[in-house]
Amino acid sequence: MKNMKVPLLDLGIQLAGLREKMVAAVTEVIDSTCYIMGPKVEALEEEVARYCGSPFGIGVASGTDALLASLMALGVGPGDLVLTTPYSFFATMGAVLRLGARPLFVDIDPVSYNIDPVALEQALAEDPARTARIKVVLPVHLYGQCADMAAIMKVADHYTIPVLEDAAQAIGAACPMVENGRVVWRRAGSIGVAGCFSFFPSKNLGGVGDGGMITCQDPQLTEKIKIIRVHGGAPKYHHGVVGGNFRLDPIQAAVLSVKLPELDGWHQARRDNAALYNRLFDEVGLAGDQLTLPIAVYRDSPREAGAYPDYHIYNQYVLRVKNREKLMAFMANAGIGVEIYYPIPLHRQQCLAGYGYERVSYPESERAARETMALPIYPELTDAMQEYVVDRIAAFYADPTNREM
Ligand SMILES: *Cc1c(COP(=O)(O)O)cnc(C)c1O
Repeated sequence: MKNMKVPLLDLGIQLAGLREKMVAAVTEVIDSTCYIMGPKVEALEEEVARYCGSPFGIGVASGTDALLASLMALGVGPGDLVLTTPYSFFATMGAVLRLGARPLFVDIDPVSYNIDPVALEQALAEDPARTARIKVVLPVHLYGQCADMAAIMKVADHYTIPVLEDAAQAIGAACPMVENGRVVWRRAGSIGVAGCFSFFPSKNLGGVGDGGMITCQDPQLTEKIKIIRVHGGAPKYHHGVVGGNFRLDPIQAAVLSVKLPELDGWHQARRDNAALYNRLFDEVGLAGDQLTLPIAVYRDSPREAGAYPDYHIYNQYVLRVKNREKLMAFMANAGIGVEIYYPIPLHRQQCLAGYGYERVSYPESERAARETMALPIYPELTDAMQEYVVDRIAAFYADPTNREM
């Protein structure tokens, strides 16, 4: 097979198709002289809230600020615990620590990489005094697939702890919930009390810089977050609480409004790419549930097959692989971009040294950090590129020594 370059992500193709509209939208902001908040931000808030099926949207400066402002509004502070996953991007935990609170971790499910709802239930039942300190349950919809929200909401409701969704990687992902005895599909960020989104350029909906959004179910919490977004000033210059500058840039909002109508098409293209990888790995005998083989990522559309539990938007397509470091060097040499999300689980991060997390272990998170590798999955990837990627992985594992751990 002919050598080619396959980058992990290529934003240039998407840009080419939308460049004119994006430049026009940005120019409009510049010419308006309205550079803070204003109609572009309000329009995007309304559009994203509608897209997610949530009543309110609050534009913020990043996914990180979405988490921070939401946790502040939920009253998280020193002495509090936030129940979350140890296998996520650092921002999930960083927002908790910046408020003087501590993460209480629950291990992940090894197939979805999302927080294990059974372990979550056990953690809440284990120690009532500790559970009383848990202010928020913070699941992450990792790689674009919803955590098991039906189970998580049930347990959190039982303990009356609010659920904040870290949906930074999962805008438009959906999962089944049971409401009044029937199954309804709900989008990420519209299930818990609020959802946090990131428009970092590599997310499925990315800006031309940083940006974020909070979707919220509750009008009072929405109002609180909006006040916290502007230093806690309400009215202006009267500060009942301490907030920050968490505002979304209208230039980003203008660009994102141009891109949002394309989002479902991009999701579908990523899903098609994932299905093609799965098929190609099957064909070369490399897909399986056992770790003798790289594991292709799960499940398909609920619209096509009722048995499948979610609508995955594939922000990442992640395999478990044997001999990862050697394979990564092999792939780099073949001109293919691969990446590890994430090589160190949160409870092993150095900034937690001395907090007592050395004594705990979350085996599935630690194993995922050791074994996983993401492949290019962006919408414009061609079939030939994917065939090349799979061909190279097959070539690597054709050497039997590479199949050993
Ligand atoms: C990207 C991301 C964030 C942070 O978003 P930024 O916009 O980069 O601040 C938070 N949580 C998760 C899971 C993410 O992937």
